[in-house]
Amino acid sequence: MKKVVLFGECMIELKQTGNSNTVPVQMQQGFAGDVFNAAVYLTRCFNDIDIQLFTALGRDDYSNNMKDYLKAENVGTDLILTSEDKIPGLYSIQTDSSGERSFTYWRNDAAARYTMELLTDDIIEKLKQSDMFVFSGISLAVIKPELRERFWQLIAQLKQAGVEIVFDPNYRPRLWADTTETKTQYELALQASDYVLPGIEDFEVLYGLSTFEDVADFCKPYNIQELVIKDGPNGVLIIQQQSSEKNDNQPTQQFINIEPVKTVIDTTSAGDSFNGVYLGARLSDLTVEQAVSKAAKTAGFVIQHPGAIVEKSIFHQFTKTL
Ligand code: ADP
Repeated sequence: MKKVVLFGECMIELKQTGNSNTVPVQMQQGFAGDVFNAAVYLTRCFNDIDIQLFTALGRDDYSNNMKDYLKAENVGTDLILTSEDKIPGLYSIQTDSSGERSFTYWRNDAAARYTMELLTDDIIEKLKQSDMFVFSGISLAVIKPELRERFWQLIAQLKQAGVEIVFDPNYRPRLWADTTETKTQYELALQASDYVLPGIEDFEVLYGLSTFEDVADFCKPYNIQELVIKDGPNGVLIIQQQSSEKNDNQPTQQFINIEPVKTVIDTTSAGDSFNGVYLGARLSDLTVEQAVSKAAKTAGFVIQHPGAIVEKSIFHQFTKTL
């Protein structure tokens, strides 16, 4: 069985339920986070792949409840480390009278930030046994800066063990001290990764790149085996390195159109669901075209529903059409 490890933070989510005039605001509790969302869609669409979330939680009830939720979603908890004194991060989503959403975060000292400090040799051995290790710009940002060197050592160990490294740049400016810090870390990530799945928007804000060609050119100096550039409904560009047996050694380039969704309800998790399904499809030996088709269909479905994770039974109906 193939094994995928996704590294990052899963947070407690509080979502406003009533209207914006209620005092105090009424909230419903859930769990979400970019790599966690990708993990859920990966395992829902490819149930023959072992999916593990690599993170840290605390000893509190929310942490235990989150682990139960992960298990119920078939996301493995074998690689979840336990902090003795930290708890999970939290965020809330409020919607004002005009439907505009605002996000508030309490995550500065979350347990997930200390994952690298809690890492043991036993866990490193388990990580080495995976086929893919997935992380994002958000996963990188939440590692305590003084623990980042430890993270890059781990990546080197995994690469040496033959694990494929996957990076989604997902850029969130407020999680970084400044853009110099981000660019230094992204440079290391691009150097280390076999698969990179950027949305153009992330590179536009950070590097001023605004087209598929700009992003492709920017990524050329790195040894990226498969570069998957996303741009909402505007299509997907995939650039693959040829295997060394081929003579010309020129990368292959494919542009795949996306059918735009007419009624978008909530774009949360569009990129995450795309990534999860794309990677699951590639690990299941589907072609790039088949992988994009399934991933885009899934992301298109997810954005027609509110929230990051579409309710299980509704999603199950959709997977029958995939
Ligand atoms: P990210 O969240 O990483 O910025 P994008 O916004 O580029 O990602 O969206 C990821 C994927 O979601 C796209 O590649 C596409 O498949 C799908 N998607 C996003 N917006 C739309 C849309 N309006 N119509 C159809 N598909 C969409």
